[in-house]
Amino acid sequence: MSWEQRIARELDDRRAASALRSRQVVGQGAGRWLSADGKRYLNFSSNDYLGLSQHPAVIAAWQKGAARFGVGSGGSGHVSGYTCAHQQLEEMLAGWLGYSRALLFISGFAANQAVIAALAGKDDRIIADRLSHASLLEAASLSPAQLRRFHHNDPLHVRTLLAKPLRGQQLVVTEGIFSMDGDSAPLADIHRVAHEAGAWLMVDDAHGIAVSGHEGRGSCDVQQVQPDLLIVTFGKGVGISGAAVLCSDMVAEYLLQFARHLIYSTSMPPAQAMALQSALEVIRSDEGQQQREKLQQHIALFRRGADALSVVMTDSASAIQPLIVGDNARALRMAGALREQGCWVTAIRPPTVPEGTARLRLTLTAAHSAEDITQLLEVLHAIGE
Ligand SMILES: *Cc1c(COP(=O)(O)O)cnc(C)c1O
Repeated sequence: MSWEQRIARELDDRRAASALRSRQVVGQGAGRWLSADGKRYLNFSSNDYLGLSQHPAVIAAWQKGAARFGVGSGGSGHVSGYTCAHQQLEEMLAGWLGYSRALLFISGFAANQAVIAALAGKDDRIIADRLSHASLLEAASLSPAQLRRFHHNDPLHVRTLLAKPLRGQQLVVTEGIFSMDGDSAPLADIHRVAHEAGAWLMVDDAHGIAVSGHEGRGSCDVQQVQPDLLIVTFGKGVGISGAAVLCSDMVAEYLLQFARHLIYSTSMPPAQAMALQSALEVIRSDEGQQQREKLQQHIALFRRGADALSVVMTDSASAIQPLIVGDNARALRMAGALREQGCWVTAIRPPTVPEGTARLRLTLTAAHSAEDITQLLEVLHAIGE
């Protein structure tokens, strides 16, 4: 089979399963509104949970940073791309989250790939929640280590897998809040079983950071655990993009030697690091707290109203409120009907989620008003599925 034939067949298979992905051009896609095709929709699909992507102080910090440093960092952090703006941000993150060190990465995907690739050797075992993000599972399956997936949020299964004989070290991997289900991991229990077995715990809190915990410190603060490695990303509740790994001094030194995504990649623009500092200030302030409370009210309002719908919801207390509809075609149809009624939502289908669990991944944000949530509920009732 030629390259063309193979590629054409893969595309045909996707199309036949209503699983072909496509992008949609938008004029504006973060914040309360999404604009596309000259129309304005209520946006229930962005991960900008606190609305910080549109915050005037954060925008001003980015502009000021660009005026001072220019728009690019000019190189890898190992060459000339590690400015005082990067250093200040790392120190701010480490202090905020209670770690000795923070190392910046350009994305959460890169951070997860880098950390797992740098740590996992052929005698080791990675034990990951089966619903972990693609960036974690892919890194683990590409690594020379053994990969075992545990039943979602099941610490007893983690313990069973940890007990199997092994020459090397073990790394338990999970998320604070799951990206496609919105539920939380039992971090304290998983942490305990990991440490009882001498394993390390790595938590990716992409959807918890900024949005939950005291001063927005995230899922680990809520559950009072300190994993050995904490990954936070800045493209969701922080409203920008980028990521950081929080760890000990020694692990930081090690990653500076062996994390290839750091060494061989241009660091984030210094202006972005300035904007991130500004976003963290907002997140930790009373204003951030008010935004978190507003979001919680929206979540409660939505869940009360959605009870009456004939769809399956998940056990989510977070901004991610998926409606599990099962069938791919039905998910697409419902997303289309919502769009016609002015609400922008995305249908998420396998392989992003397990077969037969296609869903509408609704995200609520502090940028919405209570009326927006009520309107979403009305439209969901009206489309009558
Ligand atoms: C979004 C996400 C990532 C990827 O982060 P980016 O900064 O967008 O690359 C990693 N892990 C989880 C759990 C995520 O939801």
